[in-house]
Parts: sequence; structure tokens; C-alpha cells
Amino acid sequence: MKVFARLLALLVLLLAALPGHAAAPASSGLPSPAPGRLTVYFLDVGQGDAALIVSPTGKTVLIDGGPPEAGTRLAARLRELVKGPLDLVILTHPHLDHLGGLRAAVKAVGARRFMDPGFDHPSEAYRDLLDFVGNEVGQVMSPEPNPSSPQTLLTVGLGEGVALTVLWPRVPQEPFLANTRSDANANSIVTKLTYGKTAFLFTGDSEPPTEEVLLQKPVDLAATVLKVAHHGGKHSSTAAFLERVKPQAAVISCGVGNDYGHPSPEVLGRLRDVRARTFRTDQDGEVMAVSDGATVTLRSARGGAGASSVSGTQQSGGPVALGPIEPTPHGRAGRSVEKEPEPGASRTRTPVEPTAPAATGERFVSLKGSKVFHRESCSTLKRSKNERTVYPSRADALRERRPAEDCHP
Ligand SMILES: [Zn+2]
Ligand SMILES: [Zn+2]
Repeated sequence: MKVFARLLALLVLLLAALPGHAAAPASSGLPSPAPGRLTVYFLDVGQGDAALIVSPTGKTVLIDGGPPEAGTRLAARLRELVKGPLDLVILTHPHLDHLGGLRAAVKAVGARRFMDPGFDHPSEAYRDLLDFVGNEVGQVMSPEPNPSSPQTLLTVGLGEGVALTVLWPRVPQEPFLANTRSDANANSIVTKLTYGKTAFLFTGDSEPPTEEVLLQKPVDLAATVLKVAHHGGKHSSTAAFLERVKPQAAVISCGVGNDYGHPSPEVLGRLRDVRARTFRTDQDGEVMAVSDGATVTLRSARGGAGASSVSGTQQSGGPVALGPIEPTPHGRAGRSVEKEPEPGASRTRTPVEPTAPAATGERFVSLKGSKVFHRESCSTLKRSKNERTVYPSRADALRERRPAEDCHP
């Protein structure tokens, strides 16, 4: 495979862009990623967000699914990029431009886990999606810190030292942000993906109060590549936040000629101020970022300017955002980090419900149309308005349903 070998060499040498060629996944014109790399695709879904992470070991995470009208295209692209079910689907927040294509995506390739902030939102589209994932996805979870070590950030290991860490929200340790311009946006799941000295920050549609909360925490926000919040909307991406993130490249996911004026000239200016090389899906099409742990190489489907290489920003090797979010009472430096089993391994840390006092009077509940049952206290139940069946004991529930994977009843 001469062509393949040449592609690998070019990536290693960080030379300019290759034109699309036969080995490229069909619809994008972008080259296939080399094995052993971390690849992030910022998919072109018009006005909305969708990003696919493919780890060096082939673990896959889809962050958001774009608007409903992008569903068919997203599904087709995922079929090209993903073999087997997605290991994790993250819905950053319950807005239509992020959730609209998820049903088509999950139907196309399947998914093992679904995570969303658990922030209550009354829209029918969101309710429908929760019902759908409740039936179609093995495990539905919120990014709650593990009760046994509540100060530790929730981290999902993706193999080869690649880690995806949830920085926000942190319910129930910290309440959801309230009384913001958009509380749904402000409580977007914010994640940091780290590989060697490189990092990606995914901000959903987070708002200035989200940025303030993150700035107050002893968390390393530095990222080589920033997925710009809220499609480049003018309120988010404050100067103080960008100065801490210090992105070398920024990706704005937005639609051609969108009604919102995204991205705003203000945000483009602030990104210039921190000297971030900016990509926009409305102009560049799909953007592909490949990290070897030291350098990230970005290419875009329509980018005439060629590849853009940016090197990692972190000083020490290895992920840095894995430690406690606040000093623990025992305050120690260099304490070893609790490792998360990989998705696909037998267990991920799920928001474990407070352990029920041994079987005394605890009831179990199943939602209409679902094959599983939950503990009555499970937060998944609070998020559905579906009709429910209550079982007086676990034995009764087991006769008709199987235990849910989120609360392990
Ligand atoms: Zn949005
Ligand atoms: Zn939103």
C-alpha cells in the first residue's frame, strides 16, 4: 500500500495537505487517518454541532448530532468512519441543533452508551430522544462524579493514554447554573480530550457563566484545539477564557448564511487576539484534526490553504486535567489518578445511585416501552414523562424486565 505509506510519512513530517485520493473516506475528500493517531472530525452538519472522536485504539465518541435536517448526511458519514457501535454518544445539551440528528446517527451505527447533562428540558424532541435512547442504547448516564470519590473528575479512558474528562456540569456536587441567558446552554457538557501533550476542549454551547465557573477551578483549561462555544456566538468565548485555553487552533461549527450571524465578528476578533488559527465548517466544510500526542495536524474538506500543524501546549507529558477539581481534604500532590476502565470493558463508572439500604422497602420502576427497570431513585426516571410501572420488589421487577445499566438495581 504505497499510497498509505506515503500518507503516513506525510503526517509524520507534518507537510502540507494532500489532495483527496482513493484511500479517502468517500464523501469528505479528506485523507484516511493513520493508525495509532487520535482523530477528531468536526462534521459539517450546517447550523449545529457534531464531532466524532476516534481514538488510537479505535474507540469512538460522538459529541452531538447536529440539527434534524443533517441526520441523513450524518448517518452516511458515520457509516464511512465508524465500524460497529459508537462507544459513547454525548449530547452536550438538549437543543435541537445538537440533538436533531442523533436518532439517525444511532440508528445507522448503534451506540453503547449515551450521556447528557440531565438538565431538565421540556421540548418534545428531547423527550422523544430520551425515550429512543432509553430503548436503543445500552446505558444512559449523566456525568455525575463518582460518589466514592466526589472530587475526582469523571474521566473516560479511550486507550493508549487518551482520556476524555468531563469538566462541567458536576451535579450533584455543584448545582446547575441558573438564571443565565440560557440555562440549557450554560449547563452544556464541557469535555477535555487529552493525548500526550495535545488537548481538545469541547464546549457545547456554554455561556459566559460556564466559562467563569471553569476559570475559578484549579483545572488546566489549556487546549491545542478549541471547539468554539455556541457556534461563535458573541457572548461566549470571553477574552479571559480564551487566554486560559490558549488554543492554537479553533473550530467553529456553523451553517452557511445562518440566521444568527454566527460566528460573530467579536469572537473572530478575540480568537485572532490569542492567535488561534480558526476553521469554520460553513466555509471549510468538515475539519479533521489528527494528533500524534505531540502535534495536531488539521485539514479541512474545502481548505485550499492546506494542512495546519500546531504543537501541543502542555508542559508535562500526559493528561493534566485528571486530578481532583478541588484540593481534597488530605491535600496531596501527585496522587495517582483513579483510572477509568475503557468503554467496551466490562464496567464504566456510571452515576451510581446512593446504595440503597439493604433491600428494605425499595421499589423499582420501569418506563413504558422500556425493557429495563430502574431503582425508584434513579435520575433517568426523573427525566422521562413516560408512563411507569412500579414494582414492590426487585424480584417482581426481574420477572418482567432486566436491570438498567445506569443504576444497577
Ligand atoms: Zn447550538
Ligand atoms: Zn444551545
